[in-house]
Amino acid sequence: MDNYFIDNNTQNTVEIEDISENLDTKYNKKNRSRVAVNDELEIVQTGFANAVAEGFPLSENEKLDMINSAEHAFGMFLDALKCDWRNDPNSMDTPRRVAKAYVNDLWSGRYTAMSEITSFPSDGYDGIIIERDIPLTSMCSHHHQVIGGLVHIGYVAGEGGQVIGLSKLNRIVELFGRRGAIQEQLTTAIHNAVDKVCEDNKGVIVTIVANHNCVSCRGVKHQGASMVTTKASGVFRDNNNLARKEFFDSIKIS
Ligand SMILES: [Zn+2]
Repeated sequence: MDNYFIDNNTQNTVEIEDISENLDTKYNKKNRSRVAVNDELEIVQTGFANAVAEGFPLSENEKLDMINSAEHAFGMFLDALKCDWRNDPNSMDTPRRVAKAYVNDLWSGRYTAMSEITSFPSDGYDGIIIERDIPLTSMCSHHHQVIGGLVHIGYVAGEGGQVIGLSKLNRIVELFGRRGAIQEQLTTAIHNAVDKVCEDNKGVIVTIVANHNCVSCRGVKHQGASMVTTKASGVFRDNNNLARKEFFDSIKIS
């Protein structure tokens, strides 16, 4: 069984060759293949808060330049709010902290590529594959407040089909979650990415249950309300379908 995951003859890497031909030659080969995998998964216009940034993926130097200019701009933002951050011991490094948090963590999915995804033979398994309770940390595009919750993903591999390493589902959630987001589009983005990397699947379903700080901390200020969104295809599409019922039974949502 150990050899199963390292047997190159039975591995099937998601196709990346054609797209990598067109990429900027300043990135090394390793980065190019990562870009290609990510490029195939993008469905939103480059530059939008819930899309990759122009020039994606950014080099370490490009990220440093971005942090420097964002730091400067955030200092001006605090000036506009009449915050004496330059003399406040708790705030004097805040512009840089905030800039680094956006580039390296909160919006890292806009700047940093995901490693390439490898799929494996399903070896006769034809049941539903579910990963539930994947942690989600995202940020709403409208108010730049945290969205926190759980993502549940299910899929059924095709005949003689392919399955992907379980942690890749977590990586897909990170890639699209670590951006500005609206939950509806985020659900679709994750669904479409799983659909693409699990080639010839019979169906994919993604449910997100999340709390939005912009609802609990501002505006109506209601604590505890959660938003549930689902995007389904193939065998999960029909409301009376057993696959859909099995998925929701598994994640305890009716
Ligand atoms: Zn919001």
